[in-house]
Amino acid sequence: MTHCLDCGAERQSDQCPACGLTSAAAEVVLRRRLVKRTAWFLVGAVVFVPASQIFPPVELDPILIFMGILFFAALSLGYWIEHRARRRREVEALKRIYFGLIPVPWVLAAVLFVNGRFDSSIPRTEPAAIIGKVSVAGLPRGYRLVVTSWRGGRSIERVPVPRDDFDRFHPGDEVVVVVQDGLAGIPWVSAVHRP
Ligand SMILES: [Zn+2]
Repeated sequence: MTHCLDCGAERQSDQCPACGLTSAAAEVVLRRRLVKRTAWFLVGAVVFVPASQIFPPVELDPILIFMGILFFAALSLGYWIEHRARRRREVEALKRIYFGLIPVPWVLAAVLFVNGRFDSSIPRTEPAAIIGKVSVAGLPRGYRLVVTSWRGGRSIERVPVPRDDFDRFHPGDEVVVVVQDGLAGIPWVSAVHRP
C-alpha cells in the first residue's frame, strides 16, 4: 500500500481511488506542482535579500546565513522528492515538509518589513567606533560597518548600512548607531551618523 503521488490518498492498485490518476499520471502532475512551487520559493528567496535590508536588523548576517542554509536544504529536499517519485517511492511526508517551506522566505521578508515599517519605539543612540568595513557579495551587494559593540558580552557588531554611509565613514571614526526595538522585537538599525 502506498500513497498517491498527486493527492496523497491511500491506494492499493495502480489507479488512485480518490483522484483517478494512475501512478504515471500522478507523477507528471506532481512534477508540475513541484516546478511551480519551487519557482515561488526561488522568487521569495530573491525578494528576501533586498527586502531584509530596507529596515536592516542588527543581526542581519546570521539571518542571511539561516536563509542560505534553508535555501539549499529546501532545494535538496525538492530534488530528493522528484528522485523518489520517479522510482514511485513514498513521498507524502517529504512533500508536506517541502510545501510547508515554500512560503518561509516570503513570510520572513514580510516580518522584517513590518518590524521596521510599523515600529513606533523610541530610537536609542549607541556610541561606537568603526574598526573596519566589509562589502558582502550578493544581490544587491551589502555593506557593513564593523564597529565596537554596545552590547555586553560581545566585542564587535556588523552594522548594515547603505552605500553612502559605507563610503563616508572610515576605520577610527566615532559614530552613533541609532537602533530601534522593532514591532516584532527584532532590533534594527535606523541610521548611523557622526556624534
Ligand atoms: Zn490520487
